[in-house]
Amino acid sequence: MNPTRPTSPATIIDGIALSATLREEVSRRTLALKARGITPGLAVVLVGNNPASEVYVRNKVKACADSGLHSVLERYDADLTEEALLARIDALNRDPNIHGILVQLPVPAHIDANKVIEAISPAKDVDGFHIASAGALMVGQPGFLPCTPYGCMKMLDSIGFDLRGKHAVVIGRSNIVGKPMAMLLLQRSATVTICHSATQDLKALTLQADVVVAAVGKRNVLTADMVKPGAVVIDVGMNRNLEGKLCGDVDYEGVRQVAGFITPVPGGVGPMTITMLLVNTIESAERCA
Ligand code: NAP
Repeated sequence: MNPTRPTSPATIIDGIALSATLREEVSRRTLALKARGITPGLAVVLVGNNPASEVYVRNKVKACADSGLHSVLERYDADLTEEALLARIDALNRDPNIHGILVQLPVPAHIDANKVIEAISPAKDVDGFHIASAGALMVGQPGFLPCTPYGCMKMLDSIGFDLRGKHAVVIGRSNIVGKPMAMLLLQRSATVTICHSATQDLKALTLQADVVVAAVGKRNVLTADMVKPGAVVIDVGMNRNLEGKLCGDVDYEGVRQVAGFITPVPGGVGPMTITMLLVNTIESAERCA
């Protein structure tokens, strides 16, 4: 038996429970804003009828209602022109009742997603995707943090994990998850390695990691033999297994026998992402108060 191998399975970092705690705080802040005559408002724009987007949008609107925020869902047919979408965003930028604007991605192919993101006022960029928000994160200035990496950091904080000097390996380098995740870990003085599809010998890197964040979108990218005993494993991935059930990038059953902490899918990062969207929207409204 490997003497360093934990004798009990990993502690689960429960994203549903942590979200519930954070959403109580969101509700309190919403009430305080309402007492001052401000109802935090989120506009969610959906173009087309991508089934996954429909679910995400529905969950976001419901989360707003549950926490007392005002939300507007604007739905458009898939043939909406880019010009018309940009005009709508311009109107929402100027709407004083709207503190956060979110355009659900992906948008149809004839619309330039970057143009759409850049059209959102950075002051209302509660998804944290605008180039100004990304730049602020890069140089350590205040700005909206992308919700998924922000939620992952809250999960690490919830277990009191001190990142200083620790080795964090982020698998994935997308603009919305991998790269901002790496920046946030770096801000906390972790030593960060970013892996991607061209990384050679991923296992050699993950085996050195005190923290692994998997944000790939492929099942079983991280298996038990790739994890250092006691490491913290954050699973961002959202995939379907062979039975069609939601699963992450991590071989959960195997890895939880080795890791010290692990986030489940479902019930891990997913709920946290929506919670941080609410937090960003509240923060935006508070800046207007
Ligand atoms: P993405 O834009 O497709 O990026 C995936 C990244 O994984 C890319 O950087 C890619 O490398 C890398 N990659 C692909 N195959 C790999 C491999 N075999 N080994 C190492 N790296 C590999 O995806 P994303 O938007 O970041 O999302 C990632 C996953 O998280 C998806 O499953 C998505 O559904 C999920 N997600 C979940 C939430 C949530 O709230 N739970 C939020 C957002 C995303 P290259 O850059 O070299 O192509």
